[in-house]
Amino acid sequence: MKGSQDSWSCVECETSFLYGGDPVEAQCPSCDSSNLTRFIRVQDRISLAVDEYLILQCKDPSLPSKRKVRREVRIGRRPEGSGSGRLVDELRVMDVDLDHYAERIIDVESGYAIREVKESLSRHRGGSEKQRKARIES
Ligand SMILES: [Zn+2]
Repeated sequence: MKGSQDSWSCVECETSFLYGGDPVEAQCPSCDSSNLTRFIRVQDRISLAVDEYLILQCKDPSLPSKRKVRREVRIGRRPEGSGSGRLVDELRVMDVDLDHYAERIIDVESGYAIREVKESLSRHRGGSEKQRKARIES
């Protein structure tokens, strides 16, 4: 798999191009923007990219930009949001058409799940943080 190229698309000028280098250094060849969408076609690329933080998006180009993203997967390692300095493995799946939302956050050091959410996307988006917590605990 190494050396193969992924399809990329520039969010700014919509240029499509192929690029197989370091994703952090990816740039649009026509406008130099680094605001890019990466399309990964092969499923097993996901499990290989364990030390990257990836955002994979499925878009329907016929829809207005706000509603274009039909499915989004975020996967990878990142610092925990609270500033504790801990690293977490995050897996987040959002599917607009299936009305599905799943989130799993695992503390890298202990291997324990800090957070595990599975619910309909409409439920996830609606309601305050407080209401959501109550739902999870009940
Ligand atoms: Zn561009």
